[in-house]
Amino acid sequence: TTDTALAPLEFAVTRNPAAKTAAERAALLADPVFGTVFTDHMVQLTWTAGEGWHDAVVRPYGALSLEPAAAVLHYGQEIFEGIKAYRHADGSIHTFRPDQNGHRLQRSAHRLALPQLPVEHFIQSLRELIEVDGAWVPGGDDRSLYLRPFMFASEPFLGVRPANQVEFLVIASPVGAYFKGGAKPVSIWLSEDYARAGKGGTGAAKTGGNYAASLLPQAEAYEQGCDQVVFLDADGNVEELGGMNIVFVRKDGTLVTPDSDSILEGITRLSLLQLAKDRGHAVEQRPVTLAEWREGVASGDIVEAFACGTAAVVAPIGTLKGHDFTDAQPLGELALSLREELTDIQYGRREDKHGWLVRL
Ligand code: PMP
Repeated sequence: TTDTALAPLEFAVTRNPAAKTAAERAALLADPVFGTVFTDHMVQLTWTAGEGWHDAVVRPYGALSLEPAAAVLHYGQEIFEGIKAYRHADGSIHTFRPDQNGHRLQRSAHRLALPQLPVEHFIQSLRELIEVDGAWVPGGDDRSLYLRPFMFASEPFLGVRPANQVEFLVIASPVGAYFKGGAKPVSIWLSEDYARAGKGGTGAAKTGGNYAASLLPQAEAYEQGCDQVVFLDADGNVEELGGMNIVFVRKDGTLVTPDSDSILEGITRLSLLQLAKDRGHAVEQRPVTLAEWREGVASGDIVEAFACGTAAVVAPIGTLKGHDFTDAQPLGELALSLREELTDIQYGRREDKHGWLVRL
C-alpha cells in the first residue's frame, strides 16, 4: 500500500463538558510534573480485521472500558510513540518530524504484529487533538505539550495470535523544562546483570515490554546513586539508555553512535547528527564496545559523551559507574551547543533549513 493521496479520516468530535477553565488550565500548566497532567480530550480509532481503521473520534479524556480478557493485558501486544508540540512566539503550534514518528510506529507495528496506521492518519490524529486542545500547549522556553500516540490489542481473546481488534489513541500531557536550571550532567549505571534487548528481539520497537524490562535495572541504577542506566548487547557493545540514545564525541570532532538492530532509532539523535554534519563534523554509526568507550575516555580520545531523546533533548553524561569502577566523563561544549541549535529550530527561534517543523 502507498500513503500518497490518502483521504483524511472523518473524526466525530465530542467536546468535554467538564473541560478545565482557562484559570484551571493555567494553574496546571504552571509547573507540571512530567506525565501527570492530561488535556481535556483524546483521539481514538479502532481497527478490526477485515474492516480496517474506523470510528475515528475526538472525545473527552477519560477511562477506557476494556474486557479483562483484552489481549494487551495478557501478552503485551502494544506499541507507542512520543512527540512534542511547541508554541512559537507568534502563538502558532508546531511539531517536529512527525513523519519520522509515524514511520517508526509502522516499524514497531510490524514487529508486534499490529496493523499499519498510514502516516497521514497518524499526523492527522495529532492535528485533530491540537484542534481541540491547542490551548494546552504552553508557551515559553523548554515547555511543550508531550503527545503520546499508542496502539494496543483490545480483542478479548486468550489465544496467542495477533488480535483482530486494536485501538489507536493519542493523549497529551503538558511538560515543563526537563532540567531545572540548565542541562546538568547525568550519572549512568552500567547494567551488567540485565539486558533490555537481544538479537532478533523487540529492542528496535517502541513497545511496552522493553520498558517493563528496564524498570529493575533502572531501580538498581537509583540504588547505586545514578540517574540512568545504559545497556550492552551480548557482545559487550554499548546499546542505549532506558529511554535515550547515546553519542560519543572524539577529539578530532567525529561523532560516534551505536549501530544496532536492537536499539530504538531516536529522532533526536538522527536530527542532532544531521546538525553536526551540517557543521562539518564526521559522523560514524557503528558498533561501539564498552572497552572502546572506557579506553577512549582514559586516553583522551573521547572528549564528550551525551544521551539524547525527545523528553530531555540532550543530557551530557558526567559519570559512568559499574560494579567495580567509576569513570568520570569529560564534559565539552558540543552537546550543549547542538542542543541549543535543535531547540532553537523546534521553538521557531532559528531557520528550519531542513523543513523539519510541521504546523499543527
Ligand atoms: N531509546 C529509547 C529506548 C527511547 O525510549 C527513546 C525515546 N523515544 C529514545 C531512544 C530516543 O528517541 P527519540 O529521540 O525519538 O525520542
